[in-house]
Amino acid sequence: MSHHLLDEIRTLSRREVELCYHCHKCTAGCPVVDAMQYGPDLLLRMVSLGQDEAVLKSRDIWLCVGCYICATRCPNDIDIAVTMDTLRQTSLARGYPAGERDALLFHRLFMGVVQRFGRSHEAFMLGLFKVLSKVPLMIDVPAGIGLFMRGKVPILPERLRAPTQVRQIFQRSKT
Ligand code: SF4
Ligand code: SF4
Repeated sequence: MSHHLLDEIRTLSRREVELCYHCHKCTAGCPVVDAMQYGPDLLLRMVSLGQDEAVLKSRDIWLCVGCYICATRCPNDIDIAVTMDTLRQTSLARGYPAGERDALLFHRLFMGVVQRFGRSHEAFMLGLFKVLSKVPLMIDVPAGIGLFMRGKVPILPERLRAPTQVRQIFQRSKT
């Protein structure tokens, strides 16, 4: 049994995931747990047991939305949101296909829009997502029209105010 992934998580995320005593508080508060295969608590157990492949192939690491509810609930100060982020990076670095194809597409589009405009622009990003993903094209259109009518979704993105700084942030993140 290899504990290589556990060591990697410790190094990259600087989190001691084996401190988890499985009180289940994180999983009980996770807003996307119903869509997950294992849930955050069990996923940490699998990391500790060296079940690297199952963890890195799981859709759970791609469904985590980084809301930090788990981290704020954990009595052992384990930051699962950071751990999930680290698992995603490790999964990609080891060449596994994303367990949730559309989640990876969404992530890449989001980062691309932030790089281009300096912040998220929902209409632009979701338009691209609809065209490129497997999500049915018309499924959220009524909700989108409602948000637009209430002025919640601007049609055009704002001009990027500090292009040099944004470029530097992205360059630094690559190193
Ligand atoms: S809340 Fe913390 S200690 Fe409890 S199961 Fe989740 S990670 Fe483990
Ligand atoms: S950060 Fe991820 S794992 Fe934690 S509660 Fe939010 S969605 Fe669930």
